[in-house]
Amino acid sequence: MDYSTYLKKYPTEDGRFGRFGGAYLPPQLVPAMEEITQAYLTICHSSQFINELRRIRREFQGRPTPVYHCENLSRKLGNCQIYLKREDLNHSGAHKLNHCMGEGLLAKFMGKKRIIAETGAGQHGVALATAAAFFGLECTIYMGEVDIKKQAPNVARMKILGANVVSVDKGAKTLKEAVDAAFEDYLENYKETIYCIGSVVGPHPFPMMVRDFQYVVGEEAREQFKEMTGLLPDVITACVGGGSNSIGFFLPFINDPVEIVGVEPLGRGKSLGDHAASMSYGSEGIMHGFNSIMLKNPDGEPAPVYSIASGLDYPSVGPEHAFLREIGRVKYETATDLEAVDAFFKLSRYEGIIPALESSHAVAYAMKLAKKMGKGSVLVNLSGRGDKDLDYVIEHYGYGEKFKDF
Ligand SMILES: *Cc1c(COP(=O)(O)O)cnc(C)c1O
Repeated sequence: MDYSTYLKKYPTEDGRFGRFGGAYLPPQLVPAMEEITQAYLTICHSSQFINELRRIRREFQGRPTPVYHCENLSRKLGNCQIYLKREDLNHSGAHKLNHCMGEGLLAKFMGKKRIIAETGAGQHGVALATAAAFFGLECTIYMGEVDIKKQAPNVARMKILGANVVSVDKGAKTLKEAVDAAFEDYLENYKETIYCIGSVVGPHPFPMMVRDFQYVVGEEAREQFKEMTGLLPDVITACVGGGSNSIGFFLPFINDPVEIVGVEPLGRGKSLGDHAASMSYGSEGIMHGFNSIMLKNPDGEPAPVYSIASGLDYPSVGPEHAFLREIGRVKYETATDLEAVDAFFKLSRYEGIIPALESSHAVAYAMKLAKKMGKGSVLVNLSGRGDKDLDYVIEHYGYGEKFKDF
């Protein structure tokens, strides 16, 4: 099935990718989601919206981001060539701004005054606060009290950008409680507010909308790679948390003879609670308003998850990923904390690019694969830059002396 036919066919009108996805909502939220879906389907396909988003991407975000050939790293690993799609050079340092600018523009076109979200590590909060500042929208970000203490630089960024950061002090005071608080706000205020989800997760239409705002990444990368090499890559890969940078990067290659691999965080190891590799070790279930693959406790509730990369520690994954594995189009592999840290230092030292710890998982897998393949090419989506991770990495691994040898 070609790419544009695929996009039209999935999701179905009720938000399904095969049996995954859908919208499992409290009745009060049904009209709000219906309003967003209708607005999205009409507004976002108007030439006015499309042209405005194009202008924003070019002038504000700095798109297209380049594709870069890692000649040094490739040479160290053998004859397979590694390339990066440089989403770390997207304004504000990661791919997340791609969907936040889309969601912000939709809010503006719908006449909403306010955008809200929850954030864990603060990356989504910063991207959304950036969009709010650009569009002149009010912005409220819910964040657990514990996360606020851990993520001081991101909290400062959100505040400087003009967002109202609300500290949530219920329960464990982390992401789950922040989600609940944001939903409460949304239930009360949806007439003037849009809830902006930070990945291809949640109820329909979010997995579709966020995907549609992200596939610019894969479209650019495919053209750029072809122009550079005259060919398509043999393998493409990206890290998978909720799944937004990966889905946007993968889909434009869906009809090509290209192997596609998502990389999940294996953290400290395979025991439940030590990783966040939902596709690799999870099972089917419903959570946060959608049906997908998730990591569950014996009682069926979402399990605790862990990864060195806080952007990847989510106990489920976007429904389209579950579907793409089921139809056999995308494979899912893992990389551990230590493999990600190794890739973090090697890309920094041998290419002059400090990657986000999330993106380092995909680089780690690409390095392993390149060694094994010994020829051909691997294109990696470098979802973000690593400035945010420096303090943590230095504290635990120093300046990487132990990681310099191949
Ligand atoms: C948030 C984040 C991710 C994970 O989110 P996805 O929705 O899986 O893409 C990956 N990389 C970076 C740099 C992030 O900030």
